[in-house]
Amino acid sequence: MKKKNFIASEHSTSPINIAGGPNSDGANIHFNYPESMLFDLAITSTINGSVLTASVSQLNEEKAFVAINNETYELRQLHVHAPSEHTIDNLRHTLEWHFVHQTEDGHYTVIGVFMEKDNSTTAPYQTLFDVLATSNEGSCTLAPRTLIPEKTTGWHYNGTLTTPPYDPVQWVVMQTITTIAESDLQLLLQAMGQA
Ligand SMILES: [Zn+2]
Repeated sequence: MKKKNFIASEHSTSPINIAGGPNSDGANIHFNYPESMLFDLAITSTINGSVLTASVSQLNEEKAFVAINNETYELRQLHVHAPSEHTIDNLRHTLEWHFVHQTEDGHYTVIGVFMEKDNSTTAPYQTLFDVLATSNEGSCTLAPRTLIPEKTTGWHYNGTLTTPPYDPVQWVVMQTITTIAESDLQLLLQAMGQA
């Protein structure tokens, strides 16, 4: 029997529990990210605990854009929550990355990518953990498109930021789950003050 697709309600306060199969095959998402970009790392605290944030450095010559339903958003930063904020059928993943984008007039779209513990870390993320092994702050060159699964099937819904001021967000939560090795997870949790 085919699993019922996720039905997005009119508007929800994020995060939410997602129940049912993906409601988007990702055909409406078009990435225009530079191959590699410089990011500034920092541990920041939020009302939901501390997060590791990698902000797009001002030193980059090229900007990263994503077009969703013909609206263009610029990548500002990515950060990670432990454990995940969204749940899928009430299951919480080990980590959840948020790729925060904004339009010129300030509207948000956030792409969520889950991480689960496994034998190895999804390769494009390794650079970040290698930098983290020496310092919680500093710069890091990442290939941003490769951090987001190639296959962009997922769940789209209208929600909010998960922290004040809870501005409206168009959420795109990816179905494909990336992985993290135990040693990298411990490194991250230590940096975030959770180990
Ligand atoms: Zn977040």
